Amino acid sequence: MLEVQQLSAHYGQHQALHGVDLQVGAGEVVSVLGANGAGKSTLLKCIAGLMAGRCTAMSLGGKPIDGLKPDQRVEAGIALVPEGRGVFGELTVQENLFLGAYPRRARASEQRNLARVLELFPRLRERLPQSVRTMSGGEQQMVAIGRALMSNPEVLLLDEPSLGLSPLMVAELFKSLERVRDARVAVLLVEQNARRSLQLSSRGYLLEQGRVVGTDSAAALLASAAVQRAYLGA
Ligand code: ATP
Repeated sequence: MLEVQQLSAHYGQHQALHGVDLQVGAGEVVSVLGANGAGKSTLLKCIAGLMAGRCTAMSLGGKPIDGLKPDQRVEAGIALVPEGRGVFGELTVQENLFLGAYPRRARASEQRNLARVLELFPRLRERLPQSVRTMSGGEQQMVAIGRALMSNPEVLLLDEPSLGLSPLMVAELFKSLERVRDARVAVLLVEQNARRSLQLSSRGYLLEQGRVVGTDSAAALLASAAVQRAYLGA
């Protein structure tokens, strides 16, 4: 449903992505694994329209999106949760969530989307009036993902959601992501925590120096000796 063909991206002279091909099916969770600097964040930024990338085709649900601005891509159904979350600390949980409901595609279903977010992240329900800066890192990450879900996306792009969280919060975050998956929202997941990420996913891509060097089912990647050596700390 999300299709990216031959995507290349540059920072000045430096080419960060070289002809990346990638698909995420409806309701599918797909992992992108790669070392630091492999181009994972760049890939998500290009899909969200936050960075100019060249590609032969980028489409969502069969409709081209490569010519669209970031806000138009949100309207088309793409939501990015950037590394570092991008929540507004001085605003309450509820205010942050409602900011996510701003796109036209989400306005009519605001209350339904809020109910769904609170079902996915029950911890946020009792904290709706709390200002976000007073919450733990894991809770703030839930606000960030909840806000993205308020735009009623077809595809959620998650950049390192577990970064900086305690092991307990990481476990809780992945439980929440399981519920997001079970709600049939497609997810493209960039994660240092490769094992958990693959356990949640149906498929994965291996990115090295801006190139896709492998792609397979998550089960096959988890079982692969090379993947275990390179990404799973075996
Ligand atoms: P990490 O896991 O460390 O976040 P990543 O896989 O997300 O890494 P990117 O952030 O996409 O990697 O970076 C890909 C390449 O592009 C790297 O070589 C990086 O140094 C370079 N790069 C990223 N952002 C910029 C920038 N703003 N200006 C110049 N080069 C950049």
